[in-house]
Amino acid sequence: MAIKIDKKIVSYSVHKADQAENKAAAPAADIIQMHETLERPDVLIGSTYKLKTPEHVSAHAMYITINDIVLNEGTEHELRRPFEVFINSKNMDHFQWIVALTRIMSAVFRKGGDVTFLVEELHSVFDPRGGYWNKGQFMPSLISEIGDVIEKHLIKIGMLKSNEPDEHQKKLIEMKRAELENAQRQSEDSADEESSGGQFPDTAELCTKCHHKAAIMMDGCMTCLNCGDSKCG
Ligand SMILES: [Zn+2]
Repeated sequence: MAIKIDKKIVSYSVHKADQAENKAAAPAADIIQMHETLERPDVLIGSTYKLKTPEHVSAHAMYITINDIVLNEGTEHELRRPFEVFINSKNMDHFQWIVALTRIMSAVFRKGGDVTFLVEELHSVFDPRGGYWNKGQFMPSLISEIGDVIEKHLIKIGMLKSNEPDEHQKKLIEMKRAELENAQRQSEDSADEESSGGQFPDTAELCTKCHHKAAIMMDGCMTCLNCGDSKCG
């Protein structure tokens, strides 16, 4: 069917095949998504994470509280989404930056959509003084460690996938571990096994993926005994 256009074309939009179907399939316009005009309920579900950095980074622990809102509760569209974040500490050194950071993060949370990019943004912040070690994990900065906490939370509420090694990676880790132990036994002295107190060998290098000092060279391949990341697995 031909349509004669006798007026000036002032705008256009591309018709998407699934647009009409979507409208039909979801008559429930009452599915609530996260958006900034959503009113804050009186009660939110909170999780508080304690972040204890080494003394020279911050003498006092930080407490990171993330409050979640539950949307469409009790329906099949039930969603738990972060709504606001607060950071408390006795340490006032970083106070103004922390307040600015948490306000901006809360605003991003309330905008809705995919907020998981925040984790990557925070992880990519490097402290010009060189970062630090916390429980066997290298932290490029305090901000990056805050990113870790946010990531942990988003995994908990199902917005991000867990970075636990999968079945394949677990097998690889076990295999590499066994190989390494064998090799160590053959090279006689296993006296200083526990010297670093860690679960990874002293010779392990920093894994670029999980930032644990757990990557070992075996059969010409770097393999991480913590997260299973391997260049040839
Ligand atoms: Zn790793």
